[in-house]
Amino acid sequence: MSRLSVTQIADGVHLASTGLVNWGLVVEGDQVTLVDAGYPGDASRVRASLARIGRRLEDVAGVLITHAHVDHIGGLPWCGLEAPVFTGQAEVPHAKREYLQQATEMDVLVRAWNPRVLLWSLRVLAVGATRDATVPDIKACRTGKKLDLPGRPLAVATPGHTSGHTAYHFKQAGVVATGDALITGHPITGRRGPQPLPDFFAHDAEQADASLDVIAKLDADTILPGHGPAWTGAMTEAVALARA
Ligand SMILES: [Zn+2]
Repeated sequence: MSRLSVTQIADGVHLASTGLVNWGLVVEGDQVTLVDAGYPGDASRVRASLARIGRRLEDVAGVLITHAHVDHIGGLPWCGLEAPVFTGQAEVPHAKREYLQQATEMDVLVRAWNPRVLLWSLRVLAVGATRDATVPDIKACRTGKKLDLPGRPLAVATPGHTSGHTAYHFKQAGVVATGDALITGHPITGRRGPQPLPDFFAHDAEQADASLDVIAKLDADTILPGHGPAWTGAMTEAVALARA
């Protein structure tokens, strides 16, 4: 069973984690921006994470999706949220499931000789990894200008993991929600610290590497990753470590 932890990582910014995946809760006044929403089986944990920070579902002003993989949008159709949902323009058709750019069950199966992969695949099956999650009402968020949502995030195109992968820069708090463009741990690698996801998860590994340069340029000192613990330090250092 996945356990939920909710940790404040910067002013108004909370990292929710199940050990398998993370999402972010960014508070401004009474309102919250939710960044990603876990697996389908995490819907009740998304609600619980809001309760942990003293907020309710109705306090969510908007949801930002880094990319439309089942571990990041899965909780949305089932958690009862009515707030508008946004992602980068290029990720919108993916979230509507006009196509799917995700590691297949076969990609995982051929690696199941690795006990870490096998254990991980059993855990993610338990939280609904093979359920169909779509977000038909998702809208494109504008880029280059702060969004009118709690934390005033800036959407940053970081393609590669998926074609429309988008990071969110909360400049005031000094936090970048990097999604899966840059993670800090994963049950499959067992390693801690800034790192890219294993290659077989990436739609375009070369593009994913180029997106690290985009992250390196952001003025922030904390990473809220899609997987793994929060990380503190300069973005240039995070990227150097991810490439080491
Ligand atoms: Zn992920």
